[in-house]
Amino acid sequence: METRQVDVLILGGGVAGMTAAVYAARAGLRVTLLEENACGGLVNWTRVVENMPSYISIPGMELADRMAEQVAALGVDVEEAACIEEISLAAGDKTVVADDVRYEARAVIAATGRRPVLLDCAGDCCQVHYCAICDGSAYKGRHVLVVGGGNSGFDEALALLDTGVARVTLIEAQDRFFAAAAAQRALAAREGAVMYTSTRVTQLHGTDALESVTLTRADGSEQQLPCDGIFVFMGQEPSTQLFRGQLELDAQGYIVTDGLMATSVPGVFAAGDVRPKRYRQITTALSDGTVAALEAERYIRRTAG
Ligand SMILES: Cc1cc2nc3c(=O)[nH]c(=O)nc-3n(C[C@H](O)[C@H](O)[C@H](O)COP(=O)(O)OP(=O)(O)OC[C@H]3O[C@@H](n4cnc5c(N)ncnc54)[C@H](O)[C@@H]3O)c2cc1C
Repeated sequence: METRQVDVLILGGGVAGMTAAVYAARAGLRVTLLEENACGGLVNWTRVVENMPSYISIPGMELADRMAEQVAALGVDVEEAACIEEISLAAGDKTVVADDVRYEARAVIAATGRRPVLLDCAGDCCQVHYCAICDGSAYKGRHVLVVGGGNSGFDEALALLDTGVARVTLIEAQDRFFAAAAAQRALAAREGAVMYTSTRVTQLHGTDALESVTLTRADGSEQQLPCDGIFVFMGQEPSTQLFRGQLELDAQGYIVTDGLMATSVPGVFAAGDVRPKRYRQITTALSDGTVAALEAERYIRRTAG
């Protein structure tokens, strides 16, 4: 197996990880960034970003591309579609094995963010999606089920109708919707939109493709609803499975850090949505990535033999 020595190994290529890469590379450190998909993370799922200072309005994917270009221009070794197989994080030994390469790092920055809570019901099909911008256009003129009555569910249901989806049925398991009143009013006013509370999807039906779902109400009654696709927006959970048993996690599974992004292991830092915080935004992720990289640099200089 090939072994690569790096100064800073960044796990996760969302905006937090990419910002950390920019700072660490500009400090003259050898930086590798491992990303399991494509760089950009949640920003790739955001149709338009309108609160990133310097852009009045920019499509999320374009913002992610611009950051990725900057990271590449600084000579960072970026490995996309990376599959991390082993990880060992200790004060004197930080090793990660991915795609038959063993990375030995002086400092590690965990920036693996969050991922959607998955739909858990009987049946399986390829028509269950977690991103309307990415997959919505395949359903023009068709009927989709949206699962989740929070802001994301309503915003994405509106986005699906804007994309040309003919009918949206939105369901929420609780007895009320949690989205902002304005979003609820906007969806209720749209032709083709139907909304139900106290309703869960309990079974998917179809042979080659999804044909219908079973909806189960709180009173136990069932309805068979024909539909072509399902978009799930039931919230997010931290992507921290890798770090279980290695770093201190809080009760919700987020990586515990101090204000300087230091985790429970010296030389391992965490940045972005993966750590406990009240406001999960692009700008707060950029800030975390900055601090984590500067602290990683400081740690490396301090511990240099
Ligand atoms: C629908 C939506 C819209 C939003 N709109 C806005 C907005 O308009 N403005 C705003 O400021 N914020 C917005 N946010 C929040 C903002 O996108 C996030 O706070 C921010 O992008 C978090 O960045 P991050 O780098 O910490 O995490 P993420 O973006 O989650 O990136 C983490 C990365 O780590 C990768 N990863 C995970 N596990 C592994 C692994 N095992 N190995 C390798 N890589 C891994 C993931 O693939 C991902 O690319 C929005 C969020 C959502 C969901």
